[in-house]
Amino acid sequence: MSKNFDVVVIGGGPGGYIAAIRAAQLGFNTACIDEWKNAAGGPAPGGTCTNVGCIPSKALLQSSEHFEHAAKHFGDHGISLDNLKMDVAKMVGRKDTVVKQNNDGILYLFKKNKVTFFHGRGAFGKAVEGGYEISVAGKTAETLTAKHVILATGSNARALPGAPFDEEKILSNDGALRIGAVPQKLGIIGAGVIGLEMGSVWRRLGADVTILEGLPTFLGAADEQIAKEAHKAFTKQGLKIEMGVNISEVKAEGEGVAIAYADAKGSAKSLVVDKLIVSIGRVPNTIGLNPEAVGLQLDERGAIVVDGECRTNLPGVWAVGDVVRGPMLAHKAEEEGVAVAERIAGQHGHVNFDTIPWVIYTSPEIAWVGQTEQALKAAGRAYKAGTFPFLANGRARALGDTTGMVKFLADATSDEILGVHIVGPMASELISEAVVAMEFKASAEDIARICHAHPSLSEATKEAALAVDKRTLNF
Ligand code: FAD
Repeated sequence: MSKNFDVVVIGGGPGGYIAAIRAAQLGFNTACIDEWKNAAGGPAPGGTCTNVGCIPSKALLQSSEHFEHAAKHFGDHGISLDNLKMDVAKMVGRKDTVVKQNNDGILYLFKKNKVTFFHGRGAFGKAVEGGYEISVAGKTAETLTAKHVILATGSNARALPGAPFDEEKILSNDGALRIGAVPQKLGIIGAGVIGLEMGSVWRRLGADVTILEGLPTFLGAADEQIAKEAHKAFTKQGLKIEMGVNISEVKAEGEGVAIAYADAKGSAKSLVVDKLIVSIGRVPNTIGLNPEAVGLQLDERGAIVVDGECRTNLPGVWAVGDVVRGPMLAHKAEEEGVAVAERIAGQHGHVNFDTIPWVIYTSPEIAWVGQTEQALKAAGRAYKAGTFPFLANGRARALGDTTGMVKFLADATSDEILGVHIVGPMASELISEAVVAMEFKASAEDIARICHAHPSLSEATKEAALAVDKRTLNF
């Protein structure tokens, strides 16, 4: 039986499910195919983000942060606890519940928006008159036809050569989110977002965590001043971070994993850990999609080649999210999904890559949008900088969380905001004001003249904007 759709989306992660909803809202007869299975073998749409990424990692970060607060900071508030314990199984169970709520939420949204959902693997059949044949291999086999196809097949964790993931001792993000007991010694290869977030979870719960990073500079994509501040905070918390290492061998042996490496000076070193998380980047995923059947073009990394508007080399076939160029972020995938659905409808869908926010949900959180100071220097752009420390913010003092700062970078002549960088409490929420400001091409002076509620962390944003003109009021 053939089922004919205007739009078929392959992949139900943030790029795919959002594209499907928007396409249906625009009046298209839309299907979304996703193969992710929950523990019972049922559908679990939401992709990496919902199942083994953004959502479960934030659930564990929240639980471990509560634990650390109870262990280390409640005393400051006059709250004492005897016999504080962590039930890791319960924490992981709560995380699984949060994931399921999100999976179920997406299935509900499909129903509400009249998106037909197929649970199984979608693959290209052949090009047909006015579209494509798509097969779905699930509990049953189906053949669909689509006038337009949106590919949102995401990415997979990259393994170290010679050390495949066993998800018991050598863990990808998937295994890292299912560790059943606090490891005594945890190794992490890769000091990026995922490594730092996962390292923070298990350090807070008592693990001795060592992060090994091949690059010489800590968080090279972040503003240098912010990265330095974050590094200082993480080191103080007890995360051991070694930069510039060269891993020579990783071997699962006995109860643990042995890692042989050269440190930044070239000296041979070794580390034995109970578990090792490998977070060295992700690979675009087109496994099982059968791109050859229709001549879909991939690049040398395996990413689907698209233009600035997410068009592939095939008419009527689009691709969004982690499987194409650009940052591997859920909100970037979502924006592309919406824009593609609108372009199919003849509208002018738009994604501004210059104002995509970046967030690392460690404590302190790190968030930024726009250009870093080192990038402005390298480009020879004349700029003004202003910073404001949370130490001088009343709400941060009341919270007991005064680490970090807000930093503004503005054009030296026009005062247009070029970048905003935050390390500190709730940076993930604070950065939105900067994104809005930059979308509206605001100047630092615009933010400096806007009334911000007192006492709030957002006053640090206003003060950093004032600092650009060297007229902070509270520092
Ligand atoms: P995915 O979410 O990977 O979804 C792709 C879906 O397609 C999957 O369900 C897959 O099963 C399905 N699929 C693939 N091939 C087929 C096929 N042939 N047929 C049917 N289905 C198929 N990003 C953030 O913005 N914020 C965060 O805090 C954040 N935290 C993260 C934490 C971790 C530990 C990890 C690993 C990632 C995190 N990310 C975060 C990145 C984010 O998860 C990805 O950028 C996002 O999921 C990409 O969305 P996507 O729709 O492109 O792909």
